[in-house]
Amino acid sequence: MKYLRIEPRRPKVGIFDFTSCEGCELQLVNHEESLADFLACVEIVNFREASAARDDTYDIALVEGSISRADEVERLKSIRAKAKTLVAFGSCACFGGVNRLKNACDLVAANREVYGAHPKETLPVRAVKEIVPVDLEIPGCPVNKPEVERIVQHLMMDLPFQLPVYPVCVECKQRFTTCLYERGELCLGAISRAGCDAPCPAGGLGCWGCRGPALDANVEAFRSMVRERGFSQRELDERMSFFGGFEVRS
Ligand code: SF4
Ligand code: SF4
Ligand code: SF4
Repeated sequence: MKYLRIEPRRPKVGIFDFTSCEGCELQLVNHEESLADFLACVEIVNFREASAARDDTYDIALVEGSISRADEVERLKSIRAKAKTLVAFGSCACFGGVNRLKNACDLVAANREVYGAHPKETLPVRAVKEIVPVDLEIPGCPVNKPEVERIVQHLMMDLPFQLPVYPVCVECKQRFTTCLYERGELCLGAISRAGCDAPCPAGGLGCWGCRGPALDANVEAFRSMVRERGFSQRELDERMSFFGGFEVRS
């Protein structure tokens, strides 16, 4: 069957996890109303969390998680060598995610405190693109399944996919959510990349920027606005550094 005069293909997909909570992988088996269609579009050949299939021949590798051990570096390089398209899947893979917070700690002292005489190997956290070339990033903690489905449709047709470049505020306004600044609360929606449909402000929580910065986000103007509204630099930096997607100067 052709669509837009293009013959869609059914790519072989391998799904791999590194340092992560595996919540992004879980998203793949969520959204049950479209799960059967999703699985008809792709051939899952490697997915430890949900399938016994094991095949090292795949077109697309979805890589979840950040990299924090030497053996992970080697495994990631081996996946990169086999995949035609490597996708950093979720904020841990794209930016280091919440795991990146540990880079601000003394890892030797933390290891001693937690594991005593039996320290665990742990390297400073890196995003996937800091180790191997990445073809596509799908940010989000977790990823947004409808967005993942749209991306897979594009990959099937060999069409380029563009993540939204505008900020979360656009989607927030489309939902008619009252701005949290009206309630005196902090929100990173003005500088964060949209595509999640702004669930956090709709649920009464400020955006924490899990999808990283929107294109051309004017962070300096945003910092001034937030300062004028009475929030401290520290509060803002803590929030902006939470998922590792923003450059934070302090
Ligand atoms: S991005 Fe969030 S949901 Fe996905 S693996 Fe990392 S911590 Fe879990
Ligand atoms: S609540 Fe946040 S995302 Fe929504 S309009 Fe206000 S600043 Fe933007
Ligand atoms: S509103 Fe912000 S924190 Fe919530 S999912 Fe969207 S980008 Fe992530």
